[in-house]
Amino acid sequence: MPSINDIAQIAESLEKSPVFVARDRCVAVRNRNALCRCCVGVCPVDAIEVRANEIKLDAGLCMACGACTSVCPTEALIPLKPTDEDLASAAAAATVALEGHTVFACARISSKHLADPSLYAEVPCLARLDESIVLSLASRGAEHVTFVDGTCETCKYGACVPVIDATMLYSNELLAAHGSATRVERASEFPDATLVENSEGLFGSTRRGFFSEAAGAAKETALAAARTTIEQEFGYVEQDEPIGTRLRVTANGAMPHLKMPRHEATINAMDAIGLPVVDEIETRRFSTVTIDLDKCNACGMCAVFCTSGALKRDEAKSSSDPLEYLEFSAADCVQCGLCHDVCWKGALSISPIVSCEQLYDFEPVTFDMKAVKKPRKKMF
Ligand code: SF4
Ligand code: SF4
Ligand code: SF4
Repeated sequence: MPSINDIAQIAESLEKSPVFVARDRCVAVRNRNALCRCCVGVCPVDAIEVRANEIKLDAGLCMACGACTSVCPTEALIPLKPTDEDLASAAAAATVALEGHTVFACARISSKHLADPSLYAEVPCLARLDESIVLSLASRGAEHVTFVDGTCETCKYGACVPVIDATMLYSNELLAAHGSATRVERASEFPDATLVENSEGLFGSTRRGFFSEAAGAAKETALAAARTTIEQEFGYVEQDEPIGTRLRVTANGAMPHLKMPRHEATINAMDAIGLPVVDEIETRRFSTVTIDLDKCNACGMCAVFCTSGALKRDEAKSSSDPLEYLEFSAADCVQCGLCHDVCWKGALSISPIVSCEQLYDFEPVTFDMKAVKKPRKKMF
């Protein structure tokens, strides 16, 4: 676990950057052949650089939109302003106050002070939102979710619009697939129920007073964020340890499997909403992995590098020879693509179409590696 010095260092870095980069969660750091560059692709200011075995975020360039944090499959980019925890509690309180209607508003429209801030949750940009928060709210009774934007066409975050659209699309797909009537919609004006006739009472702080309070709270917020988000939620390991040591293969023949809080929140919410009403879903949060055993040479590298443990050797069946069976669990897969990228035989394919039966089946899919014709020297 991080020492108090580590926490202090992280807290200090938070004052400079709204995004914490957990380097050893990035697939490109985990393996130099990883193709994922989702964060780089969505960053409107080119603040992120990903190379083989390295990721860097330029805090001076970062505008805190949060888009990178919502597209990273392995949750390597951790939002801290606000943290997921703070955002979830603000959204839950606003949903209760608005009797089941959740309203998220971007900072741009929020700054116009048109609506009662206790009735909506503010985000820097709507691109900060992802399926985990939408589905969690729906599972707890939110009947309607509205994303209120500040006219994206003229916004400095305008390039993030495809990220917002994707979050709405995939959230609504998952909600519909589970028989929920809740939907996310977009609006450029606050819903009537949130509007205030006179905002003076709500925004009584002087400008100076507001910034003074904000500065005073910043350190506390940073420390709390460092502790809850990084230490407790992600189980982040000590910073002083070299990254090569942190990522070495463990006794079970695989690199450390990552804890994925957002992924877990999403699947728990899906389960709470209800049984699926469709046979399959298209999603960016899970996937179907298949192995062509005619191409496979049973090296097992896909299972060595899998980030989540969705693809792993079947220890129960493979007690004598670990290479006899691999198993895959769609519910654990985060669609990071690393298993595909490390397979030098091109035997592995990943699809965003996932069968609900496979998603909810407690029995993982088993690949019989004994069917591989010319097994290579085993790697485990
Ligand atoms: S928060 Fe936005 S601006 Fe900052 S690195 Fe991520 S995508 Fe780029
Ligand atoms: S795993 Fe996350 S941090 Fe790494 S390249 Fe992909 S999106 Fe970026
Ligand atoms: S099975 Fe493949 S795509 Fe799924 S989490 Fe593991 S490495 Fe990523």
